Amino acid sequence: MTWGTYYFFYECPQCGKKYRYELEFASEPEFGFCPDCQVMGTFVGETKDNKQGEDKFADYEFV
Ligand SMILES: [Zn+2]
Repeated sequence: MTWGTYYFFYECPQCGKKYRYELEFASEPEFGFCPDCQVMGTFVGETKDNKQGEDKFADYEFV
């Protein structure tokens, strides 16, 4: 089974922004940071947490 692009999903503890990062950028120093506040987001899930046919992270913004 293939996931296509694999994402990590975050919520910002300061502004509440919901956003996602592509796993392939995990080595970047700013990985997981809110693009607005530059603070570390709260990790809420990853692509594998979506059940089949479900996309509960659909409204998470692409960073
Ligand atoms: Zn923020």
